[in-house]
Amino acid sequence: MIGRRQRVSLHPYVPRALTAAARRSEPKETGGLLLGWTDGGIIVVRHALEVPDPSATQTSWTRSETRANEALTKWLSEAAHPWLGYVGDWHAHPAPVGASTTDKRCLKKDSRVTQKSLVLIVHRSDETLDVLTAQRGSAARTTLITYEEINQKDQTS
Ligand SMILES: [Zn+2]
Repeated sequence: MIGRRQRVSLHPYVPRALTAAARRSEPKETGGLLLGWTDGGIIVVRHALEVPDPSATQTSWTRSETRANEALTKWLSEAAHPWLGYVGDWHAHPAPVGASTTDKRCLKKDSRVTQKSLVLIVHRSDETLDVLTAQRGSAARTTLITYEEINQKDQTS
């Protein structure tokens, strides 16, 4: 079977926002939601929303569904952008390590209940990003494309 593929593009703001949130919460983990849209098969990640977890530790951050839904509803009502929606999650590791086995398992599990592909970004302490995607319970091979490439495509179509 040919593996699934998914292209993802991050707005330049997103890595900076994740680094800022990660620095603020050190030495604990933090995380939140990714907002964006899908355009021509490319998941465009436009915003990262932090959903604080008061019980976060150096090795765990848990997404509270209640807090996540509150943050998402509030943000979407203020943003008033017709395309924007939930595209996945992010969290920051206060160590230079990428997505764990648990992170990958959770992503696949979460992707089972939606038709759309889901993104997971893990921000490492060395400021590199691990970008993963899953579709309907299976990991997809993720290709990152630059935001400029999407904008060029918009102008020609
Ligand atoms: Zn993790």
